[in-house]
Amino acid sequence: MKNTHRLVFATNNMHKLREVREIIGDKFEILSLSEAGVNEELPETSDTLEGNAFQKARRVRELTGLDCFADDTGLMVDALDGAPGVYSARYAGEHCSPEDNMIKLLKNLDGVQNRSARFMTVIAVVCDKGEFHFEGAAEGSIALEKAGANGFGYDPIFISAETGKRFAEMSDAEKNSISHRGRAVREFIKNIELIF
Ligand code: IMP
Repeated sequence: MKNTHRLVFATNNMHKLREVREIIGDKFEILSLSEAGVNEELPETSDTLEGNAFQKARRVRELTGLDCFADDTGLMVDALDGAPGVYSARYAGEHCSPEDNMIKLLKNLDGVQNRSARFMTVIAVVCDKGEFHFEGAAEGSIALEKAGANGFGYDPIFISAETGKRFAEMSDAEKNSISHRGRAVREFIKNIELIF
């Protein structure tokens, strides 16, 4: 029986894992950090998405010796000059919750007319053949208040320009078909035979 190629995805975020596994299918076995035995916090000190994604993927490669990929995502809001951007995870402070981040963002956009924004994802791959990266973006706007129960992070306040719905109001499959990470992962998949 042919062994399935194992790839470590440098995350323990179950939402991200589910999204990515759904897109990649069963051609590759995707291990989370804990499944790969990585229990340390990964470095994320760069001021670019690409820099952070490579930092995480390189560290996991160092620790496991396996082929690895990492993603880094930012929500860029035009009226805030691209903030929270690369700092999206800790917009409201070092150990803040997604709820705290959304409250801060809605407060900073209080009374602001131009609410256009985009999610951007960079996927960095570090493997035997070298290093590669892929990008994906999703255009939209920031809602006036939260709604929807699906997804994670800023999904309850991000309205997709393509569907007019918040990401949190879409199924995984629908979000994947138009999301930043879905697009970056599909670019990765298109090239996967060249990489591994
Ligand atoms: P990271 O890529 O895990 O560093 O994500 C940075 C921040 O963006 C975190 O606050 C995440 O919750 C948020 N984020 C990442 N991807 C998504 C998404 O698909 N929807 C909503 N928020 C996201």
